[in-house]
Amino acid sequence: MKPAEELEQVAKESRVCTKCELQYSRKLAVPGEGPAAADIMFIGEGPGFHENEQGRPFVGAAGKLLDDLLAKINMKRSDVFITNIVKCRPPGNRDPQPGEIEACSVYLDRQIEAIRPKVIVTLGRHSLSRFLPNAKISEIHGQAKRVKGWLVVAMYHPAAGLHQRSLMAAIEQDFKRLPELITKAAQSSEGKDQAPSEKKEPKQLNLF
Ligand code: URA
Ligand code: SF4
Repeated sequence: MKPAEELEQVAKESRVCTKCELQYSRKLAVPGEGPAAADIMFIGEGPGFHENEQGRPFVGAAGKLLDDLLAKINMKRSDVFITNIVKCRPPGNRDPQPGEIEACSVYLDRQIEAIRPKVIVTLGRHSLSRFLPNAKISEIHGQAKRVKGWLVVAMYHPAAGLHQRSLMAAIEQDFKRLPELITKAAQSSEGKDQAPSEKKEPKQLNLF
């Protein structure tokens, strides 16, 4: 299946998915959106109120900030793929539970495999812990790590920046590193054309 078709298939399946309890709180699943050829994949936590209404990721206040941060590095939302670790809204915006994250990971994994992004940006700690379970976001945000072959950069969730203005400078700085990281990832022989399973480097390597 072509990458774009696989993404459409994942979206279709998630809309009628019954793999976890979050099926009961969803109005519309939010599978994610963006081009199959995106260099960057942003992975947030889960749909909130507005996302659940519209079936689209990051359309509320955090999404507006994400758009602004992208604009500052001359990128548009339509250049990147944006999704979440769970595709359905947790009731009352509670944290997604480990079992829900696990159940939904089949979709996220298929999206990553289809897109093969140069850089995966995790937004917030739930998304980070999916890749680096023991990492602390305050310690590793903005750093590039190789995880199972993927280049992963942890960032604070934009909503955290809205609630805690002191984090905003760090968020902006981390975003500013993205163009450089993409260029370096593209130059590196370990770019997206090589299957992660063929890569030999240790699981958590600090890069760049
Ligand atoms: N916050 C998230 O983590 N994801 C969204 O899609 C919207 C807000
Ligand atoms: Fe299925 Fe994921 Fe929705 Fe749970 S959150 S019902 S696993 S699509």
